[in-house]
Order: sequence, then structure tokens, then C-alpha cells
Amino acid sequence: MVGRDDVARWLADYAAVVHENAAELTELDRAIGDADHGSNMDRGFAAVAALDPSGFDDAAAYLKKAGMTLVSTVGGASGPLFGTFFLRLGGAWPAEDGDAAGLGAALRAGLDGILARGKAEVGDKTLVDALAPAVDAFDAAAGEGLGAALSAAAAAGAAGRDATVPLVARKGRASYLGERSAGHQDPGATSMALLLDSAARALP
Ligand code: ADP
Ligand code: MG
Ligand code: MG
Repeated sequence: MVGRDDVARWLADYAAVVHENAAELTELDRAIGDADHGSNMDRGFAAVAALDPSGFDDAAAYLKKAGMTLVSTVGGASGPLFGTFFLRLGGAWPAEDGDAAGLGAALRAGLDGILARGKAEVGDKTLVDALAPAVDAFDAAAGEGLGAALSAAAAAGAAGRDATVPLVARKGRASYLGERSAGHQDPGATSMALLLDSAARALP
């Protein structure tokens, strides 16, 4: 099962992906927000990638520290939401000898934390539109093993991200635009889909 050093690989991979995609994430946020999503995420995950994994006893402690780091370094909506996700993920992380279903439960705890904090529902044009279907897809494929479940989650997350394009935003800054938010891909759903894609690459 996935332990601390696997999580370190995931977080390092994602920090690099966020850095490479920072300009694109900011452009998406320029269209329907305040043009800071790429710089917010880049700042936060650079701080997470700077954590020394060997300073933590296990994956759970490491993930919780990553969550606290995001809450304290990223401003805006995305910091507390991604931060809560990693805090809850750490709180529910399965034992090293756990199975894929255990990781599915941890992902579900992360999603529930985001839902409790941000009060968004699927269809509100937020990062929930990528994460919620991904967690369902993970659960549905968990019996086929960790790699298959993570791949299914990444595919569902990408589809959820794409499905945000026609939606009218009902949460976050983009909701201030009303109908004019339609026709643009949600920045947070884009960064969440990248996180799931990174997990499928780095964790199994
Ligand atoms: P801010 O909007 O404060 O500038 P960011 O630009 O970093 O923060 O993040 C914007 C993203 O946050 C949006 O694209 C959306 O996916 C996500 N978001 C905003 N509000 C919520 C919410 N209430 N629940 C879930 N996600 C949200
Ligand atoms: Mg923004
Ligand atoms: Mg902002």
C-alpha cells in the first residue's frame, strides 16, 4: 500500500506539474476570476515540496503537514480547500498494509472536507466537479486494484473538469459573473484533475 515515500513522489510530481501549468491556470482564472490561481497553487505546492519527508513518521503525518502548509501559504479559496483535502486525507490514510478500498475511503474523507468547507455541489462549476466523480470512479474500480482505481479516478476527474465548461458558476468568484461564466473551464477543476492525474502516475 502507499506509504510516506510514495506520497512524497506524488507531491513532488504535482508541485512540478503545477509549476509547469501555472500560467495556464492563471489564464483560466483571468477569464472568470482574478487571475491568481496558478500563482496561488504554485506558491503553495512549492512550500509543500520543500517539506522533508524523512521528518515525518508516516504518510498520515506528512499529508496533514502538507494540508496545514497549503492553508497557511495559499490565499484565496483554493488554499483552504486543497488544504482541507490533504488534512482529511492524512486523517483517514490507510495503514501500509491496507487495500485500495482504504485509499478510496481516505479520498472520500478529503472530498467530504471540501464539501463541508466550501458548500459547493456537483454542477456548481468548482473543483468538486472533478473530485466527486473521481472518488466515485475510484470506489467502483477499487476491486481491480490500486493502479486501476487511480486510473479510473483520473479519467473521471478529467471528464468532470471538461464538463465545467458550459456550466454557470454558483460558487466562488466566478459566480459573480453569472451567465457570463459559461463557456470557460473552471481553474480549480483543472488543478484538481491534474492532482488526480499525478496520483495515477506517482502512487501505484
Ligand atoms: P480565489 O477565487 O479566491 O482567487 P483561486 O483562484 O486560487 O482562489 O481558486 C479558484 C477556484 O476555487 C475556483 O476555480 C473553484 O474551482 C474553487 N472554488 C471556489 N469556491 C469554491 C467552493 N465554495 N467550493 C469548492 N471550490 C471552490
Ligand atoms: Mg483566483
Ligand atoms: Mg484570489
